[in-house]
Amino acid sequence: MIDKLAIHGGTPVISNPKPHFRWPPHVEGLSKVVGDYIESGGKLSIVDRSGIYQQLEDRLCSLMGRKYAILTSSGTMALYSAFFGIDLRPGDEVISTVYSFHATATPLLHLGVKVVFCDVEPDTGNINASQISGLITENTRAIVTNHMWGHPVDVSVIQDICREKGLAWVEDCSHAHFSEYRSRFVGAFGDVAVFSLQGNKLLTGGEGGVLLTNRTEYPSSGHRN
Ligand SMILES: *Cc1c(COP(=O)(O)O)cnc(C)c1O
Repeated sequence: MIDKLAIHGGTPVISNPKPHFRWPPHVEGLSKVVGDYIESGGKLSIVDRSGIYQQLEDRLCSLMGRKYAILTSSGTMALYSAFFGIDLRPGDEVISTVYSFHATATPLLHLGVKVVFCDVEPDTGNINASQISGLITENTRAIVTNHMWGHPVDVSVIQDICREKGLAWVEDCSHAHFSEYRSRFVGAFGDVAVFSLQGNKLLTGGEGGVLLTNRTEYPSSGHRN
């Protein structure tokens, strides 16, 4: 039994030396890769689609079968951009999931949007698509999901609901880079798909994110009557 916390002079539970966690993570060889790239004339532009940014955006478009990709500073920013881009406004409602990283839903609060939580499937942790319809009101504009731990959500059911009710689907794929649903990579399905490229993700740029879509304008017909 622990009768005194380590901070008050008790025996520490963890005995291996500090630091237990380093930030930012050190990636072996990264500075050489970046250095070689810049020395060879490569551009690291933050203002336009050039160099390796363009290559990465184009490659992600072709892998996910999408027309457009935009790299962002984080997955959270890609989600925020997606919600902003589909024209969400204060008073709108978006159906989200009770189990995900918080950024699947938190950018909605910046837009004054009401988050309506849907329960998840007990086996996958994914949004329970059969419960979505019961949460739709006249203010519902969109659904945001996450493919938990790489397991794709019920894509066809969600697409049917969105088509029938005129809702947008923001597909957060931050757990599921290169997961497949019916032989296509996730990121191919939502009106807007978003990936985090943060250091713990399956595909990482250290920090970063990307947004993928097929259209340059929203709403489509039916989204806002
Ligand atoms: C990591 C993650 C995000 C946020 O990504 P950042 O790049 O850390 O901002 C969003 N959604 C899910 C599901 C995530 O796992």
